[in-house]
Amino acid sequence: VEVELPIYEFECLDCGLEFEKLVRKSGSEPEVACPECGGRNVEQQVSAFAARMTSGKGGPPGSCAPGGG
Ligand SMILES: [Zn+2]
Repeated sequence: VEVELPIYEFECLDCGLEFEKLVRKSGSEPEVACPECGGRNVEQQVSAFAARMTSGKGGPPGSCAPGGG
């Protein structure tokens, strides 16, 4: 059974490093430390799932001309 792990993006406010980390829903804020400088001053970014959902070039929805032929 495949289950999508809750990967959250974080950004270190100290060195500005952006990294992903698996965080389990525990309720309270997870303890995440920057893997670069080890600082705890990290900021959680928007969920990566929503960001990756949109992909491809934008085009007109339903550009099918009626009739023809
Ligand atoms: Zn850092």
